[in-house]
Amino acid sequence: MRVLVVEDEDAIASAIERGLTKQGYAVDVAHDGAEALDKATVNTYDVICLDLNLPRVDGLEVCRRLREDRFAGGIIMLTARSSIRERIEGLDYGADDYLVKPFAFSELAARIRAITRREGGLREPVIDTRGLELDPNTNRAKREGRDIHLTPKEFALVYYLARNEGRAVPQEELLEHIWDEHANPFTQTVKVHMNNLRRKLNEGFDDQLIETIRGKGYVL
Ligand code: CA
Repeated sequence: MRVLVVEDEDAIASAIERGLTKQGYAVDVAHDGAEALDKATVNTYDVICLDLNLPRVDGLEVCRRLREDRFAGGIIMLTARSSIRERIEGLDYGADDYLVKPFAFSELAARIRAITRREGGLREPVIDTRGLELDPNTNRAKREGRDIHLTPKEFALVYYLARNEGRAVPQEELLEHIWDEHANPFTQTVKVHMNNLRRKLNEGFDDQLIETIRGKGYVL
């Protein structure tokens, strides 16, 4: 799950970035409205957290243009307490939700989970398939009832494959959805995490849950 945080106040931006990264999201940050629109054009985001009071292009305009360009992910506005009018306009422009500053990080995280559950049929809250149970709310994984302790990245990988069960997912697609823009596409990052994930999933079992299809990608 990839999130864009649009916020011009560095301290807030990096606090949100840190918090979401810890929970296993791939997080990019934009510091003004124009940068946000650029990044949303180049990358695929599941959710955008959008401060409304921004330099260059203000948040309401960013929201309007994102929807005009058919941005399909969720948008959460971060607004000042006083701006009821802005909130209403934002919702009219296609934002899904808003949070009034200052907010608790845990509330933002809960709103993001709620939005990603609502969006599209593929984003089931809990996936249960082939004896594998994945709960994205807690990042807990079980195989045949046995707990498997995964890092947030490993969980994100297996959850993404499970959402696309039966389809070979190319490495670039995993990199695009699960890592942020600082990931180097020429490194072994995906491979390394995939190897660890497989080792944990397969420990004590005879069959492999994830297969590699040469030239095509990984399939659950
Ligand atoms: Ca601001």
